[in-house]
Amino acid sequence: MEDMCIRFIDLPCRINGVTVQDESGFYNVYINARLSIEAQHEAIAHELTHIKRDDFYSLEPITKVESFK
Ligand SMILES: [Zn+2]
Repeated sequence: MEDMCIRFIDLPCRINGVTVQDESGFYNVYINARLSIEAQHEAIAHELTHIKRDDFYSLEPITKVESFK
């Protein structure tokens, strides 16, 4: 697995999590601290799937990139 850091921060309620890759390729995963523990775990799994699939380089439409749980 690539280098990454998972942080829990307050995000707008509709956002479960977001991953930002910096210029060195390091992944910063932000998970919404307002979610339940279960939802946070789902959000982490979701963001890790993006990293595994290299979705950040995907040219697919965002609706397709996001069409998994
Ligand atoms: Zn996503």
